[in-house]
Amino acid sequence: MASTTELSSDEKILLEKILAGEVAFRKIGMCTDTQTAVKLRRLALEEQVNVRFEQIQNYTIDAEQITKRNIENMIGAIQIPLGVAGPLKVKGEFADGEYQLPLATTEGALVASVNRGCSVITGSGGANVRIFQDEMTRAPVFKLENVKRSKEFAEWVQDPHIFKEMQEKAAETTRFGDLLSVEPYVIGNTVYLRFAYDTKDAMGMNMVTIATEAVVDLIVDEFGAVPISLSGNMCTDKKPAAINNILGRGKTVIAEVTVPKDTVEGKLKSTPEAMVDLNYRKNLLGSARAGSLGFNAHAANIIAALYIACGQDAAHVVEGSTAITTMELTKYGDLYCSVTLPSVVVGTVGGGTGIETQKDCLNLLGVAGSGNPPGANAKELAEIVAAAVLAGELSLIGAQAAGHLARAHAELGREKF
Ligand code: NAP
Repeated sequence: MASTTELSSDEKILLEKILAGEVAFRKIGMCTDTQTAVKLRRLALEEQVNVRFEQIQNYTIDAEQITKRNIENMIGAIQIPLGVAGPLKVKGEFADGEYQLPLATTEGALVASVNRGCSVITGSGGANVRIFQDEMTRAPVFKLENVKRSKEFAEWVQDPHIFKEMQEKAAETTRFGDLLSVEPYVIGNTVYLRFAYDTKDAMGMNMVTIATEAVVDLIVDEFGAVPISLSGNMCTDKKPAAINNILGRGKTVIAEVTVPKDTVEGKLKSTPEAMVDLNYRKNLLGSARAGSLGFNAHAANIIAALYIACGQDAAHVVEGSTAITTMELTKYGDLYCSVTLPSVVVGTVGGGTGIETQKDCLNLLGVAGSGNPPGANAKELAEIVAAAVLAGELSLIGAQAAGHLARAHAELGREKF
């Protein structure tokens, strides 16, 4: 732990200015180098709040780089335990092979549970995975004079010539992004335009925000609608929303596997019938009764752990949590299981993906950086995410069904005596 006695005289003078309120935390970086700024913020906080930091100063990530793009007012770093689950056999269009999943979590038993699910899937020949749609959305909101103008505006944006102009405008702002569509939604004199983009290997929120801002300028110039906000919440970013479930946001991905009855019994200590019944009553009926947007057991657990490990924006666990898990009995008595994820929001460039520790995890999956062709790496990651969620669902539903079976056996056993 650094102490004020170890500071140079210049650092001591700067610390005194910070404590006197003459230099704001956010401006410390302008007065000294990055490492010293991080240290002085920490020391100032120790004085101000009368706390002693024991550990947050211990980190290996490059403060110089991350303070340029990932964090402001940096004071240190948090460490999250990282485990691995696998091998997970994935048979996707982009992810094809066996993967070791990096999972960053503090929830004991999660990695072990996913590991068991991976073993079930891999032992069953692997998970089929397909991406059905890939588009990141941004939906600015506009105010019109009246409903008549709202309708004219909604029709105007869908004119093919106008849309082409918008595509060209968006293309001026990015080398990789492509504007794919625009969909108007109207409430009285308020109009939302939901723009959808192909963002290749980027998760794309910054990219589509910059592109949409340019398109909004064009709209203002050519139609005269009054822009109220670059995001009108019809996007919908980082909030649970039916629109994302229905129309998709980011990557819409489905993973499936058929697990032989013997494997269910051997590895999950349950039966296909018990798992199908539990999935129906819990994930489908229970979620419906609760008004949930997610019809799954714990998709968010796997998504959070993978996203944190791989430098994704952790707030997008919100979108990821809305998976639907199905289980059916096949005509041979085996277990068919699928997970449908309407909104997997991931990237392999930009955001937190360049931070060294997170990059290690992307490298473990073989998806760091730009894909060949561009977009292939982010799609591979999305397919891995879906297969990992499938593993998590099989393991937890299996465990709960096994517990139910064990209780049923115990009760039946007792009744005999
Ligand atoms: P970004 O950090 O802005 O990086 C994306 C850029 O990487 C692209 O725009 C592109 O530059 C470049 N790039 C290089 N190789 C690429 C490839 N193969 N495929 C695609 N792009 C490539 O990241 P982002 O994904 O747009 O946004 C993610 C960040 O946005 C995260 O930090 C997240 O937390 C944050 N975020 C922002 C908002 C918001 O409203 N702005 C909302 C939520 C999250 P060019 O475009 O110049 O070609």
